[in-house]
Amino acid sequence: MTLDSNWFSEAFNDGGSAFSMKLGPGKKLREVQSPYQKIEIYDTETFGKLMVIDGCIMLTTRDNFIYHEMMSHPVMFTHPNPERVLIIGGGDCGTLREVLKHPQVQTATQVDIDEQVTRMSEQFFPELCESNNDKRAELRFDDGIEWVRNAADGYYDIIIVDSTDPVGPGEVLFTKEFFNNCKRILGAGGLFVQQSESPLYHSHSIIKSMQQNLRGAGFADTQTLLFPQCVYPSGWWSCTMACKNGKIPAPRNQKSFATQYYNYEVHQASKVLPEFMKNALA
Ligand code: SAM
Repeated sequence: MTLDSNWFSEAFNDGGSAFSMKLGPGKKLREVQSPYQKIEIYDTETFGKLMVIDGCIMLTTRDNFIYHEMMSHPVMFTHPNPERVLIIGGGDCGTLREVLKHPQVQTATQVDIDEQVTRMSEQFFPELCESNNDKRAELRFDDGIEWVRNAADGYYDIIIVDSTDPVGPGEVLFTKEFFNNCKRILGAGGLFVQQSESPLYHSHSIIKSMQQNLRGAGFADTQTLLFPQCVYPSGWWSCTMACKNGKIPAPRNQKSFATQYYNYEVHQASKVLPEFMKNALA
């Protein structure tokens, strides 16, 4: 079946695969070339709105809940008392909204390099931005690697890196310098989590090197969690958590708010690795 102009496709060349979505009557709704990246918004037939950055699918109305819940709730429920949270990237504000559901949070600072991502999300994904005016929320527009360089020792309880892939502006967020500073600015028992790409495509590369570099930066323990994400390459995604000192604790089973994907059992199951990943990460 050859796809015509009624479809949006993202080819993942390294994996030799592509993912396509049938466009709705609106087709392309907006395109902005910011100083950092090209941001496009499409109307799709069955997934609602679609955000694309530099040709890569970022999120859709229909299924972003899986990613945003798994990037926020596992790390938040693993920390005993997450009061000060830093989000690097996350400009669509979906992760910020989930973080602010936790009653312990006193401040949630989101640092995205590109203000245009947030402005486009406010217009086309307002449901993701509904907590932006929460008095605990602080939205800053800066390079994440600069922010962590300048942040104070031991200030944060949790750092969530909701970045693009390790290319373009996102590349610096996968470096040892970045991890070293993240460890420095976390307090005792502080937790770090970063989106760590596809288990199928990246277990031997990005995921393995992220775990190695986090331990090289002095993090005491690492843990990769798996979850489905059909719009991303291979339809299978991950995030990798790290603890500043000691073993990553067991999560608190204390969810007091509504979610669509995350629950305690899903969290526990997401930590179980298939054999090929155990071997790749050994
Ligand atoms: N779910 C997406 C994924 O897994 O690819 C990520 C979503 S979010 C839109 C990615 C964000 O990372 C973008 O808003 C982008 O502007 C931001 N970003 C990229 N490089 C950055 C940097 N060096 N500092 C801060 N934010 C950065």
